[in-house]
Amino acid sequence: MRCCCGCKKKENESVPGTKDTKGAKSVKIVVLLGAPGAGKGTVAQYLLDNYDVVHFSTGNLLRNEVKNDTELGREVSAYVGSGGLVNDDIINKVVELNLAKTLESGSAILLDGYPRSVDQAKFLDQLDSGSLRDAIRIIEIDVESEVVVARLFDRKICSKCGATFGRLDVIAECSRCGGAFVKRPDDEEVVIRRRLQEYKSTTMPVSEYYGSRLLKVNGDRSPDEVARGVTDVFRDFGVKKRR
Ligand SMILES: [Zn+2]
Repeated sequence: MRCCCGCKKKENESVPGTKDTKGAKSVKIVVLLGAPGAGKGTVAQYLLDNYDVVHFSTGNLLRNEVKNDTELGREVSAYVGSGGLVNDDIINKVVELNLAKTLESGSAILLDGYPRSVDQAKFLDQLDSGSLRDAIRIIEIDVESEVVVARLFDRKICSKCGATFGRLDVIAECSRCGGAFVKRPDDEEVVIRRRLQEYKSTTMPVSEYYGSRLLKVNGDRSPDEVARGVTDVFRDFGVKKRR
């Protein structure tokens, strides 16, 4: 297949994730999408434990910049200090900078919480003159809103050790330390529905942008089963298992 711009270059020719012409390390980026309560955290942890993959959470990346007092970190502090939200430009810059560093190491990258808007998704696609585009796999953990509401509403959190238990754990107290259960304020139904609505309005356009590039994994199952569904995608993508 020829390149879409009509030049002589073959499509995929210089994509590090698909061909290794210059002996460069292969690039693999996985974007993990999923509504609050879809089980993204559990799945991400499973992948990190079992695969040679680096976790990219924009929150952590921004905190690191602030902690290391970099130029970007100072910009972030200025925004947060004035009560504003960190804008797309800064988030994009932080992601670009850290992607470049990590890709050098040859590890795959798990992007969590990014891209959160179509503009961010477009930015990611055009990085490295667009050559990263084909090295990105997008996985969405797909789950019905009502399942999420029931799941989060029934979540029990230990007041002593912070362990979380789900609807299926029929226990009166924490099985780890015997502590009493509390409800997190953000697990109240109204809050849950608002977060789901926010997710729909911001992230659904991102899913639509990716279109046929998006791989959906059924999230309406136990966390273990969901993790297995996602690892199938990882295996097909060629992400290495940890030894
Ligand atoms: Zn406990």
